[in-house]
Amino acid sequence: MATAGKVIKCKAAVAWEAGKPLSIEEVEVAPPQAMEVRVKILYTALCHTDVYFWEAKGQTPVFPRILGHEAGGIVESVGEGVTELAPGDHVLPVFTGECKECAHCKSEESNMCDLLRINVDRGVMIGDGKSRFSIKGQPIFHFVGTSTFSEYTVIHVGCLAKINPEAPLDKVCVLSCGISTGLGATLNVAKPVKGSTVAIFGLGAVGLAAMEGARLAGASRIIGVDLNPAKFEQAKKFGCTDFVNPKDHDKPVQEVLIEMTNGGVDRSVECTGNVNAMISAFECVHDGWGVAVLVGVPHREDQFKTHPMNFLNEKTLKGTFFGNYKPRTDLPNVVEMYMKKELEVEKFITHSVPFSEINTAFDLMLKGEGLRCIMRMED
Ligand code: NAD
Ligand code: ZN
Repeated sequence: MATAGKVIKCKAAVAWEAGKPLSIEEVEVAPPQAMEVRVKILYTALCHTDVYFWEAKGQTPVFPRILGHEAGGIVESVGEGVTELAPGDHVLPVFTGECKECAHCKSEESNMCDLLRINVDRGVMIGDGKSRFSIKGQPIFHFVGTSTFSEYTVIHVGCLAKINPEAPLDKVCVLSCGISTGLGATLNVAKPVKGSTVAIFGLGAVGLAAMEGARLAGASRIIGVDLNPAKFEQAKKFGCTDFVNPKDHDKPVQEVLIEMTNGGVDRSVECTGNVNAMISAFECVHDGWGVAVLVGVPHREDQFKTHPMNFLNEKTLKGTFFGNYKPRTDLPNVVEMYMKKELEVEKFITHSVPFSEINTAFDLMLKGEGLRCIMRMED
């Protein structure tokens, strides 16, 4: 490759300050160092996490920064020690990694890699503590090790899943964060058996992906719970059979669900980030076998409160990070689920804009319109 080992000048969307529109700038992207890979991003999507760290209300402000973590691209060049990837490979960057060597990576039960677990405050590469992005000599910080709002980015090899080159990157790019999180929460953690009843709390992209998991698992009844009635119509496309709006009832929603299902749901998956919804999602499962899975990220001061008798009555409470998927080992198989036409990814993609209109994607998300907006880098 003519560009290998050299600095690449390309376009990137830079967040200079919290809450200010991103500005498309020419950035210099340094070559990948040991265990790093430089990736040409072809498509990137916007997820709530990008917006949270751009707003930086309560989060550590790290600016100027290149955000973005849901994307698909092609390897341009690799640094020293990288043997699993080569130029031309198709990859999905992931905000959390898999080093394959730590106790978590060696455990079949965990995806919480010690070396590459998500770190939202770090704006530099772990190898040398430096940034690979600069503008006229000024370093620009990275975001969750991915920084995909750039035509080229440098990523640790452990945060890249090598996928089937036949997979359309403009579709499967959404599998690199939210959709896999919801899907895995149901398929890997809640594990409903065929014919079971599943409640999904929160019908955003993550909740609808959890619902897609329930559909794939063959759940016969899928109850969607959301405070926003506008979310219900869309959920039908994801196999939702019943809708419950907690606002329509004068008793706790867990009681409503228990009555509707003759004792409780078999599985529930919470995708709201609201602690009361988390408590309801736990208390609405059937005693003896019910399992609730928490996915939503709570507020810092939240406390989960329930009567311990619920546990003695054999209700189980679990939580998950990235749907318990190991990024490098498991994500290629999620892409294959799409290739085999089991998993339907298209219905999550509601908008598409050229990269130059990235601020439109932010506006859509702030207005709560649509699920995923794909940004096309070459347009
Ligand atoms: P979203 O904001 O699009 O959707 C959340 C939905 O929950 C909204 O439709 C909202 O109306 C609904 N809601 C809020 N409070 C509710 C309540 N009390 N009862 C019922 N419904 C309620 O968000 P999203 O992008 O789908 O993400 C969902 C959650 O998943 C967020 O908290 C996000 O931070 C989290 N998340 C977790 C992981 C993980 O690895 N655990 C990864 C990605 C995202
Ligand atoms: Zn590890």
